[in-house]
Amino acid sequence: MMPLLCSEPQWYTYDSIYTTLSTILYLSFARTGESIALRYPRYSVDPPVPLLHDPSSDDWPHERQPLLHLHVLGIGLYSTAEEHKMAQCKRCGKKGLFLALSEWGLCKECHVVVALDVQERVRIIKSSAKVAEGSKKLETKLSRMDLMKEHLEALLEYERMEISTINPSPSSLLAELRRDRHNIVVQGVEDAVDTALTKAQVAATPKSGITQASKALLSISDAEKELDDPSVLAPYREKVEAYIHRTTLDSHLDAAHKAEFKGNAKKALDAYQEALYFLRTDSIDDSQQTQQIADLEEKIEQLRKQLSDK
Ligand SMILES: [Zn+2]
Repeated sequence: MMPLLCSEPQWYTYDSIYTTLSTILYLSFARTGESIALRYPRYSVDPPVPLLHDPSSDDWPHERQPLLHLHVLGIGLYSTAEEHKMAQCKRCGKKGLFLALSEWGLCKECHVVVALDVQERVRIIKSSAKVAEGSKKLETKLSRMDLMKEHLEALLEYERMEISTINPSPSSLLAELRRDRHNIVVQGVEDAVDTALTKAQVAATPKSGITQASKALLSISDAEKELDDPSVLAPYREKVEAYIHRTTLDSHLDAAHKAEFKGNAKKALDAYQEALYFLRTDSIDDSQQTQQIADLEEKIEQLRKQLSDK
């Protein structure tokens, strides 16, 4: 520490103290281009006046009260790298030589507001985490995680202001939450597809099997909206669509074979035509099912001939 200014001992009246101080400070600011930290005395007056003079010493001018006097030599105007910065609240931007800042670098008013805000948000985050972890319902898990995200994002603003709020930090908790949320959504789809296809395989009719599989498609569509990158769900969608495609075609062919077996050529022809129509209008490119299409066309031709020969 290095005294910036030491004047000759002089006495000042209360009224002139501030004028003098402002002048000294102004000159010092002008000289250093920086702000100045004042050392506070134990015996301060209100408003606080910097004072290092020992009032218990003999030369303390008690007899000169009520006019307050200051020994300017005793005013500790010190300059250090650390003390040079004028205190400024990180939140509201208020600054001043006499502004006391909390450990978060906030003025008293802002500290109270931020402390309450942080306390409430941390409470919500912790209780939501508990509910999300304990719930088996995907919907509940996701809605709680979204609530956590909202409050963590608010805490992230404090993190950017270097105000510590929660441990691990909001940014790392947010990253973790994003990963967990993604995994939960994908796992939910996997479970829904497994359940639907298991039920479909034991279904009494192809139609009820397809109904089960369609439920899985709905779950996939819902999950796609929840993900930043829905393409990770494409394999699940393909698996279910392949099942539905195969089952639909099989049900037409099955009806055709049954009618043929019973000697009902007209009904068989109708079912084969259904199957052909299905293949021609499905989402799969016809070039990938040329053999199946050709076989069906041949079968249809045979049956037509059979019927016209009668
Ligand atoms: Zn403030």
